[in-house]
Amino acid sequence: MIRRRILITAVLPFIFLVLILPGAAAYSADEDDTGEPYVAALGDTWETLARRTGMPAEDLARYNLTINPQRQPAAGSTINLPQIRGQNGRLLRPLAGGSLAIAATNGRNPWTLSLQNDLAHPYSPLLYVPFLLPGGTAPLRELPPGLQHLSLAPGAITPGSAFALRASPPDPALQFTLDTLPLTVSSTNERTVALGATGAFFPPGQSLLAIRSGINPLWEQPLTINNRQWTWEEVTFTNAAVLDPETLQQERERLQAIWDEVTPQAMWQGEFQTPITDYIEISSYYGARRSVNGGPYSSYHEGTDYSAYGGTPVRAPAAGKVVLAEPLAIRGGAVILDHGLGIHSGYYHLSAIHVQPRQLVEPGDLLGEVGTTGRSTGNHLHWDLLIGRTWIDGYAWLEQGIDEWLSPSQIEDHRLPEQ
Ligand SMILES: [Zn+2]
Repeated sequence: MIRRRILITAVLPFIFLVLILPGAAAYSADEDDTGEPYVAALGDTWETLARRTGMPAEDLARYNLTINPQRQPAAGSTINLPQIRGQNGRLLRPLAGGSLAIAATNGRNPWTLSLQNDLAHPYSPLLYVPFLLPGGTAPLRELPPGLQHLSLAPGAITPGSAFALRASPPDPALQFTLDTLPLTVSSTNERTVALGATGAFFPPGQSLLAIRSGINPLWEQPLTINNRQWTWEEVTFTNAAVLDPETLQQERERLQAIWDEVTPQAMWQGEFQTPITDYIEISSYYGARRSVNGGPYSSYHEGTDYSAYGGTPVRAPAAGKVVLAEPLAIRGGAVILDHGLGIHSGYYHLSAIHVQPRQLVEPGDLLGEVGTTGRSTGNHLHWDLLIGRTWIDGYAWLEQGIDEWLSPSQIEDHRLPEQ
């Protein structure tokens, strides 16, 4: 009797230790499985990952001690997971009706569906309980109600970058926000596209991506905004006239009215090209922190500067419509193109302009010639790219692949096969 008590006293702390150790082998079918890095995608919740790995959600969170278990895993963040078994389907949270309603709206047999969710019959009243709809080829995800497919454009999101979502079937009532920032939404017969942009001063970390329909919140998930490095520049302007705040403000208000116009369809196909091929160097990158005339570093460079000889051709990087073609006080000889979906590109300090307002251009069409008009210290092309009123890094946009991903030719298969 005494010996047994000693044995229990000796073993108990050990069991306790195993239970609280992060990633302890006790949670895994495989003794050697210490977890593998996995990049969370849109629709990954602790619940879907639990069903895919066979590990309870609360244990999964314990596998990732640096992550707040009260928050869903952030899309784009790396988490530690035991081996994924590969269960496909969707996880739904029905507001009412449980398996019967889900079976009815998805053309499934209610009895089969109930068995797949460990329910004795389809009449159990299930409220807010995650409900599995197996099938398809896509990994198990939790998507907004009514959507069969939701995906995020490739590439890491950083301050000063574009990000985009495709959702289907299309629903023009959908509204998307990142924290308080609204995304530009447009719908075709096949899909709804949401396009957003982080500015150069957007804080890195985790922001909340939310989808609503009218006033109803449908879905939300944190989204990772990665950090990036910036360059620092001291800029000196000697011409007092072009620094006049009123001139700056007038020009900005005029352009904001143009940038606010959203053509709902993408007007281009495929990848954007560099607007100038014959240049000496990139003399200033987007996002460079700027001190103007010895002031604080409170502004940033809103575009990419290509230093080039005067008269060098500047060409349309993608199809679009000319919405401005005239000399401006600050930006000098200016051309602005509308590419659709709320995307505008600008070409400034030109010595000559070769297009007219409302003209449609194809990629490679001549827009104008490099000059040093307006607030400029030498021959260069200042190229900017905006989504709504937010400047993004055009140079990064050329590499990112969102341009091609958003092209009308890109249609994904979003159907769930019948069971
Ligand atoms: Zn510039």
